[in-house]
Amino acid sequence: MTIRVLPDIVVAQIAAGEVVERPASVVKELVENSLDAGASHIHVQIHGGGQQRIRISDDGSGIPSEEVELAFYRHATSKLTTTDDLSRIQTLGFRGEALASIASVSRLSIVTRCTQDTSGTMLNLDGGRIIRRQEIGATIGTVITVENLFYNTPARLKFLKKENTEKRQIALFVTRYAMAYPHVRFVLEQDGREVFRSTGSGNLADVLVAAVGLDQFKNMVEVEGIETGSNGQPHIQLHGYTSVPSFSRADRNQITLFVNGRWIQDTRLSYAISQAYHTFLMTGRYPVSVLMIQIPSEEVDVNVHPTKAEVRFRDSDKVFTAVQRVVRRAVVNLAQTPAMRGGRFAGLSMDNLSHWTVDNHTPVQMGIGLRLDDSGQYTRAPLPQRQMPTVNDPTAIPEGMGKPQKPRTLPILRVVGQVGATYIVAEGPSGMYLIDQHAAHERILYEQFMDDYQRQHPMTQYALETQTITLPPDLAQLVEEYAQPLQKIGFALESFGPNTYVIRGIPAILTDSSPIDALQAILLDLEAGVKPAAKTIEDKIVTRICKQVAVKAGQILSHDEMQSLINQLERCSLPHTCPHGRPTMLHMTSEHIAREFGRLG
Ligand code: ADP
Ligand code: MG
Repeated sequence: MTIRVLPDIVVAQIAAGEVVERPASVVKELVENSLDAGASHIHVQIHGGGQQRIRISDDGSGIPSEEVELAFYRHATSKLTTTDDLSRIQTLGFRGEALASIASVSRLSIVTRCTQDTSGTMLNLDGGRIIRRQEIGATIGTVITVENLFYNTPARLKFLKKENTEKRQIALFVTRYAMAYPHVRFVLEQDGREVFRSTGSGNLADVLVAAVGLDQFKNMVEVEGIETGSNGQPHIQLHGYTSVPSFSRADRNQITLFVNGRWIQDTRLSYAISQAYHTFLMTGRYPVSVLMIQIPSEEVDVNVHPTKAEVRFRDSDKVFTAVQRVVRRAVVNLAQTPAMRGGRFAGLSMDNLSHWTVDNHTPVQMGIGLRLDDSGQYTRAPLPQRQMPTVNDPTAIPEGMGKPQKPRTLPILRVVGQVGATYIVAEGPSGMYLIDQHAAHERILYEQFMDDYQRQHPMTQYALETQTITLPPDLAQLVEEYAQPLQKIGFALESFGPNTYVIRGIPAILTDSSPIDALQAILLDLEAGVKPAAKTIEDKIVTRICKQVAVKAGQILSHDEMQSLINQLERCSLPHTCPHGRPTMLHMTSEHIAREFGRLG
């Protein structure tokens, strides 16, 4: 066979295979062009899943009359001139391939007009060949119509996905762009029916409401963060929304990432986000997140793949850490704000809730009950007055053998039952108590741990069979940084190669649970939020351990287990709050109950 240089059209068709794989990729490329042209309104009309017709109209800059043909040449672009430019790409396109590729596998028409021209230009192409050009009246902007996609590449046509699959994919693309460009008004019509519209208000929240619906949006919280570089300038800026832990999905595809306005696929960053939910989500569950990452353009290489959906970061660890940190912070904050109470007592309307008194008016902050004295020892701070015993009970039977009996801080409570496998209903001399079993147990464990800790009890449980743990570099760094407090609390960790540790011993309290999970959770806690003050580090670690070990919400408890838990809570120094400061109980007084039933005047 003779060697021949392929005709341009064939070259374009071969190349088109990479860029325009399916109708949805045509939509993507054309929308990107409209965005690059500075459009504020983009109208996408689809027929027959895009194979029949795709029309994209924009009010962007338009193409000067004398350049319209040029736009359909391969490697013709207005967005790049030198290789140098490649390292600071600000536009979505830059390869100058899309129009040529799309035109080569379809029948295409373009009507475009820029501000300098007094009339518009219309060009018709068939399989990449220009068949007609004419001057035409037009408003400023561009309308591109792509018909009979892949009509001349039967092989591609045969492998097209079902029309509905394509419709869904197109809707996904358009909504993604709408999220990344909330200032742009998007309208998507499929077969003459409007299926999506964004307002162009500039507000990501507005777009999300339109894209995912108000119900789902209500389950999302805003995340925001700025990482400054060594020069003090913003280096990585993050903004987006992520779901509350109670709202999760079985697949991780609901994590949507953008880098400098470009939608990207990055399994590592998706992992960073789901990792940020560690201990808040069950394994196999994933959050719903939309995260915009802004990073100086020279820090990211977008020229990795023809579809431009993958990028390479110069310092990917840094981006990983920043993403994980900002999402973790949002999730942890959420778990600590009283606003969650509404959610935790779902089913009780706020109206009803207001009749209940949260049995503690000043939420106790983490570690407030402990003080570090000059010698570096923890001592218990004087307790606030109202935390003192409310009932004299000199006849109480001592529980802990050998340990001095602690004074009672709650009246004697009698367990009535369990509600929703989460709350214990108890009765006391002055009414009814609803106790959060997890929060209460956390409090109990926390005080026990701290008691042992102060008495320098040997707390490390040495393992017969050691486990090793390999951590992401940022977390491994934390192990080094917090080696001392971790050791004091009972972890015996030994370095074993890069980012890997052998766990020789663990705090005794963790004996029945997974030390690896606990350690990871601790490190993520230490990483989230501001760097804790030295004296609260240990407290933070202990708090996390207790959370890990405490009975969970949803766990059915026997009557005896509940009674034993309540008995221990009655003698906690600060029984009304968990170590995070959340209430452990709601108290409904006898008077209040009587009043509600009309038994009191
Ligand atoms: P690229 O976007 O990589 O530059 P394309 O083949 O997608 O390559 O487009 C080629 C050129 O056509 C662009 O560089 C731009 O100048 C012009 N162009 C394409 N679409 C539009 C549009 N909607 N509005 C204005 N100019 C456009
Ligand atoms: Mg383009």
